[in-house]
Amino acid sequence: MKKIGLTTTVPIEVLLAAGYTPIDLNNVFVTSENYLEYIEYAEHEGFPKSMCAWIKGIFGACMKNNIKEIIGVMEGDCSNTKVLVEILKKRGVTVHPFSFNHGHDIKLLNDEMKAFMAYFKVCKEDVEEKRNELNVIRKLAKEIDKKSYEAFTVSGFENHLLQLCVSDFDGDYKAYHQFLLEKLEDINQREPDKKALMLGYIGVPPMTGDIFDYVESLDAKFIYNEVQREFAFPRFDQAADMTAQYHDYTYPYDFDFRIKEIKEQIKIRDLDGIIHYTQAFCHKATEHILLKEAIDIPIINIEGDKLNVLDARTKLRLEAFIDMLHDRKEV
Ligand code: SF4
Repeated sequence: MKKIGLTTTVPIEVLLAAGYTPIDLNNVFVTSENYLEYIEYAEHEGFPKSMCAWIKGIFGACMKNNIKEIIGVMEGDCSNTKVLVEILKKRGVTVHPFSFNHGHDIKLLNDEMKAFMAYFKVCKEDVEEKRNELNVIRKLAKEIDKKSYEAFTVSGFENHLLQLCVSDFDGDYKAYHQFLLEKLEDINQREPDKKALMLGYIGVPPMTGDIFDYVESLDAKFIYNEVQREFAFPRFDQAADMTAQYHDYTYPYDFDFRIKEIKEQIKIRDLDGIIHYTQAFCHKATEHILLKEAIDIPIINIEGDKLNVLDARTKLRLEAFIDMLHDRKEV
């Protein structure tokens, strides 16, 4: 099957029905041992130092892995993606467009979905059949997420990674289905690992994958990973069809829609605090103003750049924040 690169989550059901193997370039980049080489390659090609590491990593991952076709999300994703896809086109990569309209209009999304299906020459019935098949796997990811906050048998890192990989089902949805089945069986055998503090992680997935273990070393644990959970479509079972599923997806739409879901999860999971991760040179850092105003539990903003481990200053800030939460909880 032909590989097709993704720069963000798109209706993967259409691509699978069309016989493609979707590959999430974010995951290729961030899970690579040589992730810095992807960034260096992009900078060598002229990407500025003052540009988010994800964009450079996606570019490097696409070029170095010889991905010849990608889906370029022109609306509802990062504005940097627009220039990224222009550069990729000039490097011989075919870019197929998709947009999540900013107005969150379901009719426009439905038109976009129809155009996307027509572009890949697949019909609605085939796509819905694929959706049903994938929803079995989404159900497993949802169950694992639930174990994080009901049974406390899933680590913060597992919760992050297992949901994140649903964006492309790790490149092989049948194998990922089997993997999650085995994972769930293993999780079901575990004793609860409850920490004194239960935290939420919001914002784009981190470059610094060690954040999960670091907070656990401070007797705290992430039991909610906002964006990773959205990538896994936890409300798939409430959606009547593809359009409804991708309409009920907070990542590409407005803040009010997103915050409603975050607040609901804070309540359901009884969180003690929130860590809001942003990426250096990302416009989304400004959203912290809105988040601070909307959320009524303690929240801290930390920033990552190129390194895949936390720097000393960020560790110190996290430690101080978590100390404060411990004191607050004891009082
Ligand atoms: S972290 Fe921000 S700037 Fe970077 S790709 Fe994501 S949205 Fe764009």
